[in-house]
Amino acid sequence: MDNPNSFDHQPAKRARWDARYIGLAHHIAQWSKDPRAKVGAVLVNQGYARIVSTGFNGFPANVEDSVERLENKANKLQMILHAEQNALLNAGHGARGCDAYVVGKPVCNVCATLLIQSGVKRVVAAAPRLSTGSYWDRVGLLAIDMLREAGVEFTAVTGEQLDALGLNRDEARRAEDPMDPYREHQQEFPF
Ligand SMILES: [Zn+2]
Repeated sequence: MDNPNSFDHQPAKRARWDARYIGLAHHIAQWSKDPRAKVGAVLVNQGYARIVSTGFNGFPANVEDSVERLENKANKLQMILHAEQNALLNAGHGARGCDAYVVGKPVCNVCATLLIQSGVKRVVAAAPRLSTGSYWDRVGLLAIDMLREAGVEFTAVTGEQLDALGLNRDEARRAEDPMDPYREHQQEFPF
């Protein structure tokens, strides 16, 4: 018997739930203490309409996230866990078969490897740009290439979805540091 929670052949239903989880990921992103990038991730087992885990970008537990440390960009990038990584660690084996919703930045190459290896079957996130040559576009596109090759479905978050939720398009992709190559990357996202 078909699972009534399945989104198969029900695109309107899937879009409605996608919007809810994108909104939740955006909400969770605001819990990050990172002054320059707030990213949220939600793992969902769609078959049971169950939120398996959430995550936001931050230092590991018991590693002090002082303002000084968060302001030291070079060190911060070496210490911080991405939202997707925290969500996957929080989910453990429960990540298998989940959909991952990510708001704040596109999925990087490292997170893509972890999402694939954890058995996530679909990723909903911002899309990187094509053919810009920037570092973040390259790793973002590499991430999508890997997801697709591994059979993980990728769905790009649209501006319309953010508008419908009343979310500010700039806030949803915030990267305030003018030196951050990601900032330039995100300004040209199609939303
Ligand atoms: Zn990442």
